[in-house]
Amino acid sequence: MGKALIIGAGGVAGVVVHKCCQNSEVFSEICIASRTKSKCDALKASAEAKGTKTKITTAQVDADNVPELVALINKEKPDIVINVALPYQDLTIMDACLETKTDYVDTANYEHPDTAKFEYKYQWAYREKFEKAGITALLGSGFDPGVTGVFCAYAQKHYFDEINYIDILDCNGGDHGYPFATNFNPEINIREVSAKGSYIEDGKWVETEPMEIKRVYNFEEVGEKDMYLLHHEELESLALNIKGIKRIRFFMTFGQSYLTHLKCLENVGMTSIKPIMYEGKEIVPLQFLKAVLPDPASLGPRTVGKTNIGCICTGKKDGKEVHYKVFNVCDHQECYKEVGSQAISYTTGVPAMIGAMMVMTGKWKKPGVYNIEEFDPDPFMDALNKWGLPWREDFNPALVD
Ligand code: NDP
Repeated sequence: MGKALIIGAGGVAGVVVHKCCQNSEVFSEICIASRTKSKCDALKASAEAKGTKTKITTAQVDADNVPELVALINKEKPDIVINVALPYQDLTIMDACLETKTDYVDTANYEHPDTAKFEYKYQWAYREKFEKAGITALLGSGFDPGVTGVFCAYAQKHYFDEINYIDILDCNGGDHGYPFATNFNPEINIREVSAKGSYIEDGKWVETEPMEIKRVYNFEEVGEKDMYLLHHEELESLALNIKGIKRIRFFMTFGQSYLTHLKCLENVGMTSIKPIMYEGKEIVPLQFLKAVLPDPASLGPRTVGKTNIGCICTGKKDGKEVHYKVFNVCDHQECYKEVGSQAISYTTGVPAMIGAMMVMTGKWKKPGVYNIEEFDPDPFMDALNKWGLPWREDFNPALVD
């Protein structure tokens, strides 16, 4: 039916490629493009070894460079660009999509390399331009952001007149056997978890020290875990798009060993993003750390256990108080057997493919720039069940105080 240009060839891109290739009725062609072409070629070979009908090409591109991107898009003529490179490339890829009038989807909001602060304002500033160009940008189509936004939109549509409280709980009960490794790009991951925490209450951001707020929660199929309040990008858009929000928070689980390692690395300056001079060359400590940590794409075979990510919504329906939880449980080894990746890449890559499918099939085609919860959640929820991320509901969930 159509063609997607997938930018990036890391852990998440690997899953997007496999999932598009499983769905060749929609994705009859894909082009995989990244800085390192050999990684794109390896992904192509691994998808072709599974016998897909999708035609795959590969290309080299520097996604920080708009003219290079425009030339690639003009050559490949995709119906949509799936951006699974890094958040730093969001704006250049959006610029190239505008110039070539091509639809756009990503999984993480723009972040400036030098400020480690992610906000939607940079991408929301493209709304009018995308409307005028008649193209759709779907922002944040991973798991969180992504499925968590679809879960909230689904709760709002089917079970609530107003949702007053949302807690998003992201639990990774997986074990990769390393003393310290990150499950997705180490630079982005460490910037996220070492930043101050925050949540929205009564329309205002409340800031906390990093890892200041801790709760313990018993997750289905994983067990009891410590979780910590983090700043997370979907809080910003959900607080605007879901009716009646009084408070919205995001929690992620971390083991004690991960936190101790992180604290030590912070204390010695290894997580800093300020460049330093080393033997006559400028290096960024966090980028150097990334180079010595295990590549997240290599964790697949070693990771056992499950993730459990979902949302708890509290609000009112017909004047009565309603508590509702919707979540997905995903098994690291099952993901590895299916597509050669661990569950963090899987739970991000599957929704990226589904989001692109929603736009390509016209179900979510609307000129402008949108967050995922602004669209009808039903077809996406059906697709999650079909494409590997089945969800469950609980109408009497344990709440977080
Ligand atoms: P990886 O580091 O594994 O992969 C990133 C890829 O982007 C690499 O292949 C890299 O190329 C490529 N890349 C980086 N810079 C450029 C550039 N200038 N031009 C072209 N390609 C470039 O990251 P992940 O796969 O783990 O993560 C991908 C994205 O998914 C990130 O934005 C991350 O924030 C997001 N994410 C979202 C989640 C969600 O739930 N919403 C959860 C997890 C991740 P090369 O290898 O050649 O250097």
